[in-house]
Amino acid sequence: MGQAKSRGNQAQRIEQARVRDRAKFPASVKCNSCQADLTEIVPMNTRGQPGLWLAGGAICPACDSTTWVLEGEPDVVAATAATLQAQFAKDGMPD
Ligand SMILES: [Zn+2]
Repeated sequence: MGQAKSRGNQAQRIEQARVRDRAKFPASVKCNSCQADLTEIVPMNTRGQPGLWLAGGAICPACDSTTWVLEGEPDVVAATAATLQAQFAKDGMPD
């Protein structure tokens, strides 16, 4: 048992994980409200959510609305979208 080879420091590993997560998403999504192209998609953890294999959110700099990127089984995607919308409405964010 030798020492594991170092693959860069922790910051580099975090950055690599971020790039890997980002690569699962489309290059850009259209804002739900103003149709702007959004390229800043923040991945969300989908562990513990069977039927949902990709989830992220993009906040539009132009109109401040959040566009969700969800992929999975249609009923799970619909339920997740409804939950997210409800959470944001409760927090006083615009719909
Ligand atoms: Zn917008």
